[in-house]
Amino acid sequence: MKRTILTAALAIATLTAAAQTQVIAHRGFHAAEGSAHNTISSLRNAQKLGIYGSECDVNMTSDDSLVVVHGKWHRGRKDPQRVHVQKDDFKTVRSRSCENGNIVPTLHEYLEQMKADGKMRLVIEIKNHDTPEREKQVTKAIIDQVKAAGLENQVDYIAFSAVVCDEVARLAPHNEIAYLNGDYAPAVVKERGYTGIDYSKKVLREHPEWIAEAQKLGLKVNVWTVNEPEEIQYFIDKKVDFITTDNPLKVIEMLKQADKGGKNGKKHNQKTR
Ligand code: MG
Repeated sequence: MKRTILTAALAIATLTAAAQTQVIAHRGFHAAEGSAHNTISSLRNAQKLGIYGSECDVNMTSDDSLVVVHGKWHRGRKDPQRVHVQKDDFKTVRSRSCENGNIVPTLHEYLEQMKADGKMRLVIEIKNHDTPEREKQVTKAIIDQVKAAGLENQVDYIAFSAVVCDEVARLAPHNEIAYLNGDYAPAVVKERGYTGIDYSKKVLREHPEWIAEAQKLGLKVNVWTVNEPEEIQYFIDKKVDFITTDNPLKVIEMLKQADKGGKNGKKHNQKTR
């Protein structure tokens, strides 16, 4: 009898821990001094935070190199030095620095930096490309590079394109793949074989019922890009699985506060991951 009670208590504790909201740094922790979005420096900064993961954007250049950059225009559409990250070649894209003199990293360089920390996860956003054929080629190339680096157990995937999500589900069935586009109800996402929804705060505020609906189906719920205290608190209270943010320090602080005040309803431990 004692053992049964203990087992039940343990099961409840495990369930509670699994429901903990965790932090994902959007494009790395780029707000730190001297850093910039999607750079090795922003990834390194995120690795120091003890958070669940760091998100990045991956595009393929015209000569088939995988680069970590948001695009489609690098340095902004109005900048005379702008480059198109999918229509220009690698040499051209690489020749234009990011903010603060950081360079555009290759996916290979990014994965090498990931090896400096065996715990934090990399959340790779596979960007939309021009045709379904190109999207399939890009998806396969990214999955192959992740496998070659031996990091398949430390990477999650996200994408707006259903073609990309379908390809990840097919080629990397043991990895998480979350859909970003916000137009599928959780049941549809589950039906398609994806493992989560990663929807904008606007979509999830219009459909707050999708959070519990998705979790009931065994899907993870991630929300982007949540930076302001009011909205951070809203999604902590809604018990989403992940908050993707440009302001990871604020989210970490508010999760700790929520714990102390019992608002989050459970013990919080970011290091558990
Ligand atoms: Mg992104």
